[in-house]
Amino acid sequence: MSSTATTDTLAKARIAVLGYGSQGRAHALNLKDSGLDVVVGLRPGGPTWQKAVDDGFHVVEPAHAVIGADLIAVLTPDMVQAKLYKEAIEPNIKPGAALLFAHGFNVHFKMIEPRQDIDVILVAPKGPGALVRTEYERGRGVPCIYAVYQDVSGHAEDKAKAYAAGLGGARAMLIKTDFKEETETDLFGEQAVLCGGASELVIKGFETLVEAGYQPEIAYYEVLHELKLIVDLFYEGGITRMLQFVSETAQYGDYVSGPRIVDDATKQRMKDVLTDIQDGTFARNWIAEYNAGLPNYKRLKQADLDHPIEQVGAKLRARMPWLQTGPKAEQTHLKKVG
Ligand code: NAD
Ligand code: MG
Repeated sequence: MSSTATTDTLAKARIAVLGYGSQGRAHALNLKDSGLDVVVGLRPGGPTWQKAVDDGFHVVEPAHAVIGADLIAVLTPDMVQAKLYKEAIEPNIKPGAALLFAHGFNVHFKMIEPRQDIDVILVAPKGPGALVRTEYERGRGVPCIYAVYQDVSGHAEDKAKAYAAGLGGARAMLIKTDFKEETETDLFGEQAVLCGGASELVIKGFETLVEAGYQPEIAYYEVLHELKLIVDLFYEGGITRMLQFVSETAQYGDYVSGPRIVDDATKQRMKDVLTDIQDGTFARNWIAEYNAGLPNYKRLKQADLDHPIEQVGAKLRARMPWLQTGPKAEQTHLKKVG
């Protein structure tokens, strides 16, 4: 199902892309290849300035990129966006221009309170930047979700759809959402299932086997390495495809033991996590943590890095040369907050 959205609404627009990381680079290149006028805004001496220049962009400081732009895409890390807005965007964005985000965190939790005379929209491709770029180059696109927070021009939704079309998203599918839904579901997914839930499930499974006397190398393969095979099946064809490709023994074990591990009490705790996201508790804690210099974040991260599963994992991965890091690692990277 593709969308009929085109880039027409932005045909004469100047687009400023602030940030040239995972999303920024893919957006800037796809928009330019769709025939749109793109300028890139970065800190002088920042790590990606030269990359944007090498890719053929006119690169200037964020404030200069904002002046005269009709649409400003904020694609820096979420935790620097409020300061960037105050210093470079708010004093310079012209009335009626559009401010675009790829994640609603700052606007939804009111870290950014946008000026009343501008459009505020969101376009988030449902994939990492590298995939947004390679799918575009293949003549396809990654589905995008889009939203309107504030519409002063009367064309805010058209601008969001035109931007998504410029990314190639309209070749696949566009889904309308709002800032609240995008922000809260994105945070919930990464906390309860993707990052938090999956990593804790793996670690507890590893500890259970090692504490029962099994070799850590064997435990690593069983609970971490082989997870990729299952996730690839989920990705390609859902639970149906996973069930088609695992043995009947594995299926029976899934049916009788899965609900013993993740049960209604787990679901209740998922609801508690969702409540903390919805009522702003998580955002408040995270902003306070960030502003305090990340003391707990650093300690908790170090504990994950020091876990025995990481020591045995590093040793085993060194013997599997097909698991190279680099650009491939970036493709599978879900880096959304900070
Ligand atoms: P990133 O960390 O890959 O890139 C950030 C870019 O911003 C870099 O070019 C960096 O040099 C630049 N930058 C940092 N501080 C800056 C500043 N003060 N002024 C100007 N430039 C600055 O970030 P990302 O992962 O592409 O995330 C960008 C946005 O996209 C975030 O809102 C994120 O939530 C959202 N998003 C990301 C993904 C993803 O898969 N990575 C998916 C959907 C949405
Ligand atoms: Mg964890």
